[in-house]
Amino acid sequence: MVLRSSYRFCRLSMISNRASKIEASPTLAIDAKAKNMRKNGIHVINFSVGEPDFPTPENIKEAAIKAINEDFTYYTPASGIPELREALVKKLKSFNGLDYDPDQISISCGGKHSLFNIMQVILNPGDEVLLPVPYWVSYLEQIKLAGGKPILVPTDSQYKIHAELLKEKITDRSRLLILNSPSNPAGTICEEEELRKISEIILEKDLWIISDEVYESFIYDGKKHASIASLNQDVYNRTIISNSFSKTYSMTGWRVGYTAGPIEIIKAINSFQSHVTSNPNSIAQKAALEALLGSQNSVRKMIDSFDKRRKYILKRFKEISELDCNVPEGAFYVFPKIVGVKMKSMDFAKKILKELHVALVPGIAFGIDENLRLSYAISIEDIEEGLNRIYEFCNRNILH
Ligand code: GLU
Repeated sequence: MVLRSSYRFCRLSMISNRASKIEASPTLAIDAKAKNMRKNGIHVINFSVGEPDFPTPENIKEAAIKAINEDFTYYTPASGIPELREALVKKLKSFNGLDYDPDQISISCGGKHSLFNIMQVILNPGDEVLLPVPYWVSYLEQIKLAGGKPILVPTDSQYKIHAELLKEKITDRSRLLILNSPSNPAGTICEEEELRKISEIILEKDLWIISDEVYESFIYDGKKHASIASLNQDVYNRTIISNSFSKTYSMTGWRVGYTAGPIEIIKAINSFQSHVTSNPNSIAQKAALEALLGSQNSVRKMIDSFDKRRKYILKRFKEISELDCNVPEGAFYVFPKIVGVKMKSMDFAKKILKELHVALVPGIAFGIDENLRLSYAISIEDIEEGLNRIYEFCNRNILH
């Protein structure tokens, strides 16, 4: 017979220090909760997870079916299939103006995995990682998993990163900056002029940059995406690009991402990956290849649709004076500040989910407790209904 107390003792020592410091992803947790409520017949409006509501385009699905039928179901090189890496070389040239060799690219099991790999191969215990706030939830935990120390860097009132604010946080132990433009959760873009100033600091202090460009296709109001790696050869040598097929091609569940950077780092990632996942899924790699080579019409349609939703949501936010929202220039999130309701973000998110069945992510998950994150990668009808409910919720809880 196992006694309760000895079971409790076992549980306490069961989990490593490393794992016990990690929180589960709040974006995924809230999404799972909302989906579960839906399963139970509750009409939840789910603004939580950042996942395009479009199906994966037909040509991509067909490429995967073909791969299965042709028995493309075995191990691939740890770094990914050569034809996908070659197609990415062309994409990085035509879309980003960057020159890479296929050996400078490693395919991963999604963007999150690419980031994880990078941090595992470049960070030593105690290395400081500069992380602008608000930050995407997984950066913080992945830094800790790699033994690094997150150093939070404040941004301006529009959540934009500035070189001077960054400089103030640099110490002798600084090793890496995480740059995410367009950003999750605030949808901000780091303009080329600011990128230049940041790159000067990076070079002067001999730091590395992870440039997470997963939202590069989702840019509005005529703005442009510039990869910091494209500024000059020296910055290129210090930048590791992380990207994914999940958002651009609505392929979240397929898990394909990629890393591009200096060959020594990519080699280390390939060795690391060979012991962790062997390779990314063979079928999903063929699907990703078709995503790059096939028609890009579905991507354009998706971007147009997100832009309409963004404009609609921003227009409706003007009616809700309790929430003050910056204009996101990219990605598919809004990050309004709670100004007229006396509630911190977690209480707001919990209460509105319980009372009005609206799922959104509390800003505290991104390092700012005064804000909320809403993904507008959901139908316009759901956005309309969700905003009606938010309006009602704010009216009920308004500060008098
Ligand atoms: N990146 C998306 C989000 O922020 C997907 C969920 C996740 O991986 O955290 O909602």
